[in-house]
Amino acid sequence: MDANERVLCPHRRACGGCQLQNLSYAEQLGHKQREVIGLLGRFGHVEEIWGMDEPYHYRNKVHAAFALDRRRQVVSGIYQSSSHAVVPVDSCLIEDELADRIIVSIRRMLREFKLQVYDERSGSGWLRHVLVRRGFTSGQVMVVLVAASPIFKNQKPFLARLLADFPEITTVVLNVNDRFGSMLLGPKSKALYGPGYIEDELCKLKFRISPSSFYQINPVQTERLYGEAIRLAGLTGTETVLDAYCGIGTIGLCAASQAKQIIGVELNADAVKDAIVNAKLNGIKNAWFTAGDAGQFMEGMAADGQRPDLVFMDPPRAGSDEKFLRSLLRCAPPRVVYISCNPVTMQRDLGVLVKGGYKVRRIQPVDMFPHTEHIETICLLYH
Ligand code: SAH
Repeated sequence: MDANERVLCPHRRACGGCQLQNLSYAEQLGHKQREVIGLLGRFGHVEEIWGMDEPYHYRNKVHAAFALDRRRQVVSGIYQSSSHAVVPVDSCLIEDELADRIIVSIRRMLREFKLQVYDERSGSGWLRHVLVRRGFTSGQVMVVLVAASPIFKNQKPFLARLLADFPEITTVVLNVNDRFGSMLLGPKSKALYGPGYIEDELCKLKFRISPSSFYQINPVQTERLYGEAIRLAGLTGTETVLDAYCGIGTIGLCAASQAKQIIGVELNADAVKDAIVNAKLNGIKNAWFTAGDAGQFMEGMAADGQRPDLVFMDPPRAGSDEKFLRSLLRCAPPRVVYISCNPVTMQRDLGVLVKGGYKVRRIQPVDMFPHTEHIETICLLYH
């Protein structure tokens, strides 16, 4: 790929997801670099952002919303950013191509199998979303049909056709979401075919991924991100490590062979279940996971006088919160590796930690989301 070339998507205006498409990939990286320097430069030198060799079709999780257009035709695609309108998209430059083909095929099958699309205005109809996840290394594919009710008309012939057309699919899940609003998944999922989850490999370990668990969407860059986070951690085998906001346990488990023990904390109980299974799957016996708010957990550690040797923290876009940061400062682990998907909240949180006595040693941006404005950054802090 020529990084100086501009590849424009026909949907870019209506969709709005790829905010940087008017720039070549090389220009995008320059833009992100300046952005990080502007926000985090006062904490120290910003290393050069790691870009991708092939910055297309990197998204291994694809979500399509289904709706009726003005002419009451079924459309599937992407929610327009900042609105609830569905932009019809059959093929997206950043999404996995097989996932896109599966979604188009499902849309075409609806009429034949007499399945209706959910209509938000009247609350009638059935199918709301389709979510496809593909294991990058394993090749396993999960299709989640998100519907307004558990009654799946023509389920058997529908599945038979889908599986015949796409033998790559290893599991199909029905998720029931009968609530109003844009929440993608409802609380209940049922496996209709296969085990109800997929497995993938990352940093030579196996991971189980359930429909609702967070899993990094760009596997190529994730390996580089985790590799750097673990390198910066400088583990020697004797450390107690806290993996805060751990998702399905990926970072902590990848670091487990280099530490004495790993403790992971995560809000999503399904993700924690996956993390526990993931430790078993890989024969890892020195990792423990618990469901709960990271701030509350950290506060408990501080109150008990516990002091991890290292904390990995990887909060969502909103960043960490006061409770977490305050108790982190009380525990005062000698090293903190902060992984952030939003340099704006990272700037705010680093400000608190630096004021509390930490120094910043390395700031490494990684381009996990080419063509979009999102930026991932790793930062090492020490006492
Ligand atoms: N480290 C993981 C997940 C990072 S995404 C990985 O690399 O895959 C951020 C995670 O924080 C999500 O799994 C989300 O469910 C979790 N989360 C959000 N708010 C939280 C909170 N208050 N306490 C603990 N976890 C939280």
